[in-house]
Amino acid sequence: MIDVSSSEFRIFAPVFVFLAGLCFGSFLNVCIYRIPLGQSVLHPPSSCPKCKNRLKAKDLIPVFSYIFLKGKCRYCNEPVSIQYPVVEMITSVIWLIIYLRYGFTIEAAGLILLFTILIPVFFIDLQHMIIPNGLVLSGLIGGAAVFLYHVFIKPFGLYESALWYTPLIGMFSSSLILFAVALIGLAIYKNDGAMGMGDVKIFMPIGLFLGWKLSLLTLVISVLLGGITSIILLLFKIKDRKSAIPFGPFIITAALFSALYGNQFLRWYLSICY
Ligand SMILES: [Zn+2]
Repeated sequence: MIDVSSSEFRIFAPVFVFLAGLCFGSFLNVCIYRIPLGQSVLHPPSSCPKCKNRLKAKDLIPVFSYIFLKGKCRYCNEPVSIQYPVVEMITSVIWLIIYLRYGFTIEAAGLILLFTILIPVFFIDLQHMIIPNGLVLSGLIGGAAVFLYHVFIKPFGLYESALWYTPLIGMFSSSLILFAVALIGLAIYKNDGAMGMGDVKIFMPIGLFLGWKLSLLTLVISVLLGGITSIILLLFKIKDRKSAIPFGPFIITAALFSALYGNQFLRWYLSICY
């Protein structure tokens, strides 16, 4: 049995979580690169996209390989995208923040699972404007496992409610609102509208993990973030009115805030309103 109160555990566990996050981030890079191409994320092993040389273990040490090789491929000297170490760092920092916030708990495990799936969604939507169904499905399977634990073993989670069906309402709260918005967009503009079906779908695992309150908070914050960012991009003429901006990255940023601080935020907000 692990003694979670021992001083050794309190010192080494965060370091372990951080390093494990770095290694998993390295795998997420493979997912971000291969999933949009329809390739397997498990096989074949990683190779340089330019010279096709198979990468060795020493080339695959997260972040450090990038620094030692000064951001270049060891074999062909072509620059390697900064995105690789960035994804590794983001993954490890998110794992660490969740661990420091929730400790050695089932909540922390569930959130680490959720955001490990949402990080590739963030980058794939940013680059390709798609949210792959495989990632949505992985999120739903993980969310279902957490839901079954909540129903049959012990009520828990961020829902702050012992009602067994709270996560199910969460699964359909924001996603149905966005689905209605997408349908209205389709009816008025006769196109996909601003809201893609990927955004509707990704709210299902988010709601299943976070419950309906934090799912709705995520929706409100993501709309605000997306709106403010669009105005800034238009003002500085980085984008014009016709160009589409992916909404997924805002949903995921908002979901992270909600998962970490949403319940405190809602309590504070309600206390100043009433
Ligand atoms: Zn190369």
